[in-house]
Amino acid sequence: MNYRKLVGGSLALAALLCGNLQASAQDYRQLHKQAIVVDTHNDVLISVLEGLRLEDDLRGKTHSDLARFKEGGVDVQVFSVWSDETYGKGKGYTFANLQIDSLNAIVARNTDKMMLARTPADIEQAISKNKMATMIGVEGGHMIEDNLKYLEALHKRGTSYMTLTWNNSTSWATSAMDETSGKLPKKRKPGLTKFGKQVVRKMNELGMLVDLSHVGERTFWDAMATTTKPVLISHSCVHHFNPHSRNLKDDQILAIGKNGGVIHLNFFSGFLDPDYDSRMNAFRAKHKAEVDSLRKAGKNSIEIFDWAMEKYPDEAAQLRPPLSLLMDHLDHIVKLVGVDHVGLGSDFDGITSTPQQLDSVADMPVITRELIARGYSEAAIKKILGENFLRVFQANVGS
Ligand SMILES: [Zn+2]
Repeated sequence: MNYRKLVGGSLALAALLCGNLQASAQDYRQLHKQAIVVDTHNDVLISVLEGLRLEDDLRGKTHSDLARFKEGGVDVQVFSVWSDETYGKGKGYTFANLQIDSLNAIVARNTDKMMLARTPADIEQAISKNKMATMIGVEGGHMIEDNLKYLEALHKRGTSYMTLTWNNSTSWATSAMDETSGKLPKKRKPGLTKFGKQVVRKMNELGMLVDLSHVGERTFWDAMATTTKPVLISHSCVHHFNPHSRNLKDDQILAIGKNGGVIHLNFFSGFLDPDYDSRMNAFRAKHKAEVDSLRKAGKNSIEIFDWAMEKYPDEAAQLRPPLSLLMDHLDHIVKLVGVDHVGLGSDFDGITSTPQQLDSVADMPVITRELIARGYSEAAIKKILGENFLRVFQANVGS
């Protein structure tokens, strides 16, 4: 459209724009439904091990259940197989397998709704049958117990990615927490050891995505220099807005762009918002007696947060950052490396607080609404929601 036409037809243009905006508001659910929506990190398996069933209505207990995955239009969900540092040698691998068993049991009970996916072709098949492609990500290299045979075995059982470390370092890779806390033993050189590099090469060979969420900067750079495939960041945010040790600095984001990898954004308020912790601490101090008694009664953090939402709705709402902050983190990555290197990695059920309007997996469509509002094209939105992950997955696995 040239300038003359624009001026001459300004009223018509205004009407057209308003019309478009209206259409966008109505169509975001449609676009969300059409797009392949991938979430690379959900921790609900831990709640399943504690006895909850994903078939049940778990509102008020978790962020996720099968009905809410459907409502949120989630087509591909990577379930996190997680354990902390107490599951070291002799325990980690067994516990990882126990979690995979429990995921397999959920899939077996719900074959009309879920399908285990290990390849891009599996994902395609699941989506064509209107089932949620169900994937496995092992969060924490300690679960292979320094044994490449265990890595191979976890891959054989359908594990698509492994996060090289969780908050704890392994004997072969240092974590973000340990690299920044100053608590690494003096003799321990940060980064990947020779065996650590072997682990990365083995993952490349197997077609298992190398996930660099949680790792320290030294491990990050060593892994980037070692991998021959595009990497995954399954659930992290951006350091530019919040200088947290778990968040990615601009030079890391640029390197991921060059590597062809993808950064999936975590929804945790504490990673998104530098002021979240101080607001939360003030709230906890103010309501200490009540929070302590709920803890004593065995309530988990999500249940305590829900209690706060109900009893002190105004205060609790103010604890959460606006949804726009998550979108700002996303925009920042796009500004640095374009729309091909960003996606969603909610960390639902591994985190307590999420931005306003994102209460559970059922609310995923609001992200599509915000992407439209920020002017992203339909093609760009589809990339962000899932196609970027599929590209990286394909590059690692083949077809
Ligand atoms: Zn995590």
